[in-house]
Order: sequence, then C-alpha cells, then structure tokens
Amino acid sequence: MLAYPLGKRQEVAFLGSLVRRTCAIGQHNSAHSPHPLTPTCAMPSSMGTSKWIKCISTQGNIRGVAIEAKDLVQQAADQHGLSEAGTRALGEALMGALLIASNCKDQERVNLNIRGSGNILQALVDAHPNGTTRGYVIERERPLEEFAPDLPEDGVVFEIGPKIGPWGEGLLSVLRTKSGHEKGQPYIGTVPLVTGHLAKDLTFYWAQSEQIPSSVGLAVEMKDGRVLAAGAFLVQALPGATPSEIQMIESHIQEIHSLSRRIVENSDPIQILSQIFQSTAFVMLEERPLSLHCDCSWDRVKRALTLVGVAELQSMLAEDKGASVLCDFCSKKYEVSAEEITALISRAKGES
Ligand SMILES: [Zn+2]
Repeated sequence: MLAYPLGKRQEVAFLGSLVRRTCAIGQHNSAHSPHPLTPTCAMPSSMGTSKWIKCISTQGNIRGVAIEAKDLVQQAADQHGLSEAGTRALGEALMGALLIASNCKDQERVNLNIRGSGNILQALVDAHPNGTTRGYVIERERPLEEFAPDLPEDGVVFEIGPKIGPWGEGLLSVLRTKSGHEKGQPYIGTVPLVTGHLAKDLTFYWAQSEQIPSSVGLAVEMKDGRVLAAGAFLVQALPGATPSEIQMIESHIQEIHSLSRRIVENSDPIQILSQIFQSTAFVMLEERPLSLHCDCSWDRVKRALTLVGVAELQSMLAEDKGASVLCDFCSKKYEVSAEEITALISRAKGES
C-alpha cells in the first residue's frame, strides 16, 4: 500500500456539530440529501491557469493526476469572503473532489461532504469530470482557540496539536451519481476522519471504500491573506503493479517532504508527476483546465421555493414582502419580489 503523505496543515485544530437552518439553496442537514439545485455537466465558464494533468505508466499499472489550482482557490475564497483557514479548507476540499472526479466517467458527478470537529464544521463540494467544481465551507462562529481554555481539564474531547489534523474528527462522505441517459444507483462511500488531515483521510477513503491503494497530497499555501500556491496529486496502484514498483513510487513521494514548499517552488503538474514517477515511464492522458462553475438560476430558485410549501411562502409574503435567496455554492443572491411569491403560491395551490 502506498504511504500517506503530505498535505500538512497543522496550524489550527477544530471541533463541532452542525446546526444551521436557512432557506438558502444547497444546504443540507443530512449527509447526502439530493441537492435541490442539481448541477449539470456544463463546460467551464472561464479559463484560468488552473488545470489537472492525468497520466498512466506505460505498463498501465500505476496512474496519477496532479492539480495546479492557485487561481481557482483564490477565486473561491473571494467569492465567499473566506478567512485564511477557510480558504485552506475549501481549497483542500475542492482539489480533493476534483481528484475523485478525475477518475470518473463523463456523466458522473462527485459530491464531497466533510463534517469535521474543528473550526471548519462542514465542507460541501461538487466536482465533475469536465473539470468544473463549486463548494463552500461553514466555519465555526467562534474559533476553537477562543474557548478552548475554558474547557475543564478533564473535559477536553479533542486534541489540538500534531496528533489530529485541522479537520478534527468527523466523517468524510463521497457520493458519485450519474446523470443523463446513464442514470443508475449512486455510489456512496463514507469513512471516518481518522487523522484530521484531508490528504491522509482521502487515502483511507480510497483504501477502504474503493479498495485502491492510493497516495494523496493536498496543499494550499497562503501569504498575506492571498493564495500563494495550491496543488494536489493522486497516485494509484492498479492491478498488475508489483510491490517493488509501488515501493519505488512511494519513496519518490516521500522525497517531496513538504508539498507546500514544493508547489511554492514549482507547481507545474507535469513536474510533480515527473518527480513522482521518475524512472517509471508514463504517458500523459489528459490536460484539462479547471474552473468554478455554479448552475444556480432563477428557475432553480423558484423550484426550491415551491418546495418550502404554501404556508411558508405565505409567511414570507406577509412578513418580508418577498424573499431573499442565497446560493451557498457561489454566494449569488436572488431577490424574489412579492408578485413572484404570489404567483408561486397560486401555482402551488393550483397543482395541489
Ligand atoms: Zn450558485
């Protein structure tokens, strides 16, 4: 089995449970209820420098993908107005979901849902094999450090420090669904957050849920509140990979020491793959631009509002003279007028 490497991010540590109720779109209290705004596989709306490169050994027994995503992570942080810790967490989650999506079939969609016990209570991210992604994180209102000293000495239920990573304890769920003509049973894999480091816990996910020996690296490096570098890789041993081949790749990964430092020096995905594969010959399979994409729309907002029911719509009309709906995934705000609410109410009544 490949080693668990990299992805170090040990400045902070976290804890908590999630309770947040709004009528915003894209929020769920259950681990994987279907999104009211189900995304479709649209092509990237804007091209930055973010990309993934996929490769496979010429023997066909080891595959790899490396991501460069500085632009994409910064754009996501700007979109949501995130703190430095939030940016690191969302960056890791977006790249983690993209790593999973890079191995999916065209019509598939990946939802990554991480519930931690740290300052990041939850991360919800979608990614598609076409390189688009969207997501958000819910940060603890009061950072953990603020109230950690108040905890009774024997009442500490979490550890801050090197033993457990910044995501803390919790659950990591991956939902893979097919859309279009190929609709089928969704695949759901859930594993506990064992180390609190997303790169390591994703390694557990591949080992436990998909039985693929894997090695994952994730890093977001910040400087003065801006993303200095963001990069990731996934290397997987396929049937036919010999123990000595795996060992060799593993030793190359260990030579990287710090992925953060490595991507600050040079984040070119092909360079990272070359360093990992070294003397193992490989061929490039795909280079694909990555971008943020949210397909929320007026139609979907109206559909989501219809689902809240006539009584709720009537109270929105009486109390607020309309509704304000926020898309969690892209922070776009939809102002729904009293007239539109009235129309939705009469349509809902007509249908019932
Ligand atoms: Zn949106």
